[in-house]
Amino acid sequence: MGAIRVGVVGLGKIARDQHLPAIVGNADFRLAAVVGPGAPAMEGVTRCESLDELFRDGPALDAVVICTPPQVRYALARQALENGVHVFLEKPPGATLAEVAALEQQASTNGRTLFAGWHSRYAAGVEPARAWLADRRIDRVSIIWREDVRVWHPGQAWIWEPGGLGVFDPGINALSIVTRILPRAFFLRSALLSTPANREAPIAAQMAFTDTAGVEISMDLDWRQTGPQSWDILVQTDAGTLKLANGGAVLELPSGIEHGEDREYAGLYARFATLIHGGRSDVDTAPLRLVADAFLCARRETVEAFDD
Ligand code: NAP
Repeated sequence: MGAIRVGVVGLGKIARDQHLPAIVGNADFRLAAVVGPGAPAMEGVTRCESLDELFRDGPALDAVVICTPPQVRYALARQALENGVHVFLEKPPGATLAEVAALEQQASTNGRTLFAGWHSRYAAGVEPARAWLADRRIDRVSIIWREDVRVWHPGQAWIWEPGGLGVFDPGINALSIVTRILPRAFFLRSALLSTPANREAPIAAQMAFTDTAGVEISMDLDWRQTGPQSWDILVQTDAGTLKLANGGAVLELPSGIEHGEDREYAGLYARFATLIHGGRSDVDTAPLRLVADAFLCARRETVEAFDD
C-alpha cells in the first residue's frame, strides 16, 4: 500500500507546530495539501483556500486532518467524508456531542475512518501510569491545570466564543488523560464555572467528580495563573502517590521519576495509520461528555472582565 496522501485543514498554531512535522516524519503519510486562509506555500504541496477548492481542483487525497477551531469542524469533516476521505479530528472532536455522533455515523456509511485524536493520551507517562494504577486501591484524585491564558492562547478569539470551551480547551486534555488512566468510570457531582463579564466561555472551573466506587476526583482549572504553571494529576493509592506532571510527560512514582520522550503527535499519526489500514474508526467522546456535563449542571459566577 502506498503512502496515505493527506491534507491538513486549518493552518494555525497546532497544525504548524505539530501536525506538519509529524506528517513529514512518518513514512506512512505524504503531505499532499494544506487548506485554509493562512496556509503556507510549501514545495510539492498544493495550497487551497477552502475544502471546496481542494475537492474541485486539488490533488487526489486519502485523508484530511482538521485542525480548525471546533466550531467549524463538523461541516468540514462531513464534506471530507462525503468526498470519500478518512478524517482525523484534532481535540475536541466537535462543538457538540451530537454532531460527533453524526460524523461517526457518516464515516460508517461512507466506509471511512474517523479518528478523534486526544494528543495528551500519547504523552510519555500516560500508559505507564495506567498500568501502575490497574491493580492499586485508589483513594483520591486531584487534577490541577493552571496556566496563563495570555501566554498560551494570545489573541485566540474563537476560544472565548460559544463552543470554544474557554478554560476547558486545555482542561479537556487533563480529562482525556484521567479517563484513560483510571480503572473505573467517573461522573460529575458539582461544578462552578467562572466567566468574565465580557466573555462567553469560562476562565476558571472548579469541579468535583466521583467514580463508581465512590472515589472523589477534584479538578481545579484556572487560566489566570501567572508564575509557575501546573498541568498535574495526583492519584493517592494504597502504595503511595502517583503524580503525572507536565501534561502527562513526567511520571513520578514512589519508586522514582520517569521522563519519556515527547512523541504525542508521532503517536497520534501512528494510530491514524493503523486505523486506516484496519478499516476502523476511533471516536471516544468521554472527555467531551464530562465537559458537556459541566456546562449542563454547573453553578455559575461572573468574574472580572478579561482583555488580552
Ligand atoms: P489557531 O492558532 O487559532 O488556528 C486555527 C486555524 O484554523 C487558523 O489558521 C484559522 O484561520 C483556521 N480556520 C478557521 N476556520 C477555518 C475554516 N473554515 N477552514 C480552514 N481553516 C480555518 O488555533 P490552534 O491553537 O491551532 O487550535 C486549533 C485546534 O487545535 C483547537 O481545537 C485546539 O483545541 C487544538 N489544539 C491546540 C493546541 C495548541 O497548543 N495550540 C494543542 C492541541 C490541540 P484564521 O486565523 O484565518 O481564522
